[in-house]
Amino acid sequence: MEQSNSVQIDRSRQSTLAEALRQVMPAHCVLAQEEDTRPYECDGLAAYRQLPMVVCLPESETQIIAVMEICRRLQIPIVPRGAGTGLSGGAMPIADGLVLSTAKLNKIIRVDAYARTAVVQPGVRNLAISDAAAGLGLYYAPDPSSQIACTIGGNVAENSGGVHCLKYGLTVHNVLRARVVTMEGEVIELGGDALDAPGLDLLAVLIGSEGMLGVVTEVTVRLIPKPQLARVIMASFDDVVKGGNAVANVIAAGIIPAGLEMMDKTSSRMVEPFVHAGYDVDAEAILLCESDGTAEEVAEEIARMSAVLEQAGATAIAVSQTEAERLRFWSGRKNAFPAAGRISPDYYCMDGTIPRKRLAEVLIGITKMEEKYGLRCANVFHAGDGNLHPLILFDANQEGEFHRAEAFGAEILELCVAVGGTITGEHGVGIEKINSMCVQFSREEMNAFWDVKKAFDPFMLLNPDKAIPTLHRCAEYGRMHVSKGRLAFPELPRF
Ligand SMILES: Cc1cc2nc3c(=O)[nH]c(=O)nc-3n(C[C@H](O)[C@H](O)[C@H](O)COP(=O)(O)OP(=O)(O)OC[C@H]3O[C@@H](n4cnc5c(N)ncnc54)[C@H](O)[C@@H]3O)c2cc1C
Repeated sequence: MEQSNSVQIDRSRQSTLAEALRQVMPAHCVLAQEEDTRPYECDGLAAYRQLPMVVCLPESETQIIAVMEICRRLQIPIVPRGAGTGLSGGAMPIADGLVLSTAKLNKIIRVDAYARTAVVQPGVRNLAISDAAAGLGLYYAPDPSSQIACTIGGNVAENSGGVHCLKYGLTVHNVLRARVVTMEGEVIELGGDALDAPGLDLLAVLIGSEGMLGVVTEVTVRLIPKPQLARVIMASFDDVVKGGNAVANVIAAGIIPAGLEMMDKTSSRMVEPFVHAGYDVDAEAILLCESDGTAEEVAEEIARMSAVLEQAGATAIAVSQTEAERLRFWSGRKNAFPAAGRISPDYYCMDGTIPRKRLAEVLIGITKMEEKYGLRCANVFHAGDGNLHPLILFDANQEGEFHRAEAFGAEILELCVAVGGTITGEHGVGIEKINSMCVQFSREEMNAFWDVKKAFDPFMLLNPDKAIPTLHRCAEYGRMHVSKGRLAFPELPRF
């Protein structure tokens, strides 16, 4: 499925860059042959591809500083890259640019049981942190479904979330400090080991900035004790609206589950033959609600959640009796994306966030859009956070289906904004949702984003053309944020 591709690479610039890079790092860390750079042509948003001019894999922060210097001198844009699992095209290369991979910076520098922190290099996999801390009874809470592969550098850049983030917070709540190399080649440390740090909170600005402000070279994360026990409820509903309302009711009852996820019938039927999670495939929606803590806390919370779910109209409730059964219930949810490949040649994963109480209404809206665009959509989501992941199913080999899927996705995001939500929950904007930014933000807000970008990267060389649209782009897209009837960019051509 290849939709946009390869602008020709300037061979003379390519060899100048590769030669300069080989002066500052071993030759095997610089890739310029097509067979070596091809694996980097896209990230998880495989519909968009572009061969990079050169890929480099530095082995130290000193080499990264040297890379920044070279690229500044030659005016070459840089795309930082972790594991390339991003779903919004954030790590997609630029034709005249360098991909800077952190694959070789994969050391866990130290795990501190007393401070309950880990200091890691950016290319360390998310799950490897918890594995390293497991012997101390600790773990790193943010758990994207891609945690077996994605890196902490990518998590910081995307402010990634996961099932456990409802209770334990997103990446931004679990990172204490980051070391960053700026485009000017300076090393800055944001945040600190203490709970609070004086000065402006630039760490929060960095987290979620999609590789546009600096290259992260070291991260200190917070570790938390592993709960003594965790159990999960699987509740069935004969109506998605009832399921959606049940989510709002659980939170309104003052309960913060360790995970609160929802899958519609299309999703559970898609996943069940794949992982045999034991899902109720006749239910219109199933909710997975986890409780963790001591045995007493879990028993009490499971009883309270069960009561709320029954009152909300659950037709069946099953509670995991063993750790193996708990993991089996979750395995379906965690494997929903790969399972989509079994029923559809292609899928397009959206990532909007809405206020929880509007869940049912948005699900109905999406069902109507399925008819309008003639495409099926499987809904799996972090329901407790109001973070939707509609998987639009399509076949790129069928004329026009990809463009219908894109339009379907854009309309879902517009609906999210219309009900008071946002165009992304955790996957970032990248190139995928760059036009939708125009729907959400005003001219003033966009200008503020650009001012921050320029303060960190006056050369505009770090991951350009991602995440923040130019005002002209918004004008061309023709869907500008209109506040109180005032046009966002009156002086710019509208179409
Ligand atoms: C099957 C599947 C399930 C997923 N589930 C989830 C989920 O549950 N929750 C979730 O949040 N996401 C999820 N994702 C999306 C993705 O895994 C996350 O966005 C992840 O954080 C990306 O990490 P990465 O190492 O692959 O980064 P990449 O994709 O390589 O890069 C992502 C962004 O980070 C920047 N970047 C990478 N490293 C650095 C660095 N050192 N310094 C500065 N910028 C950097 C890149 O330029 C890019 O903009 C899923 C993806 C897949 C394929």
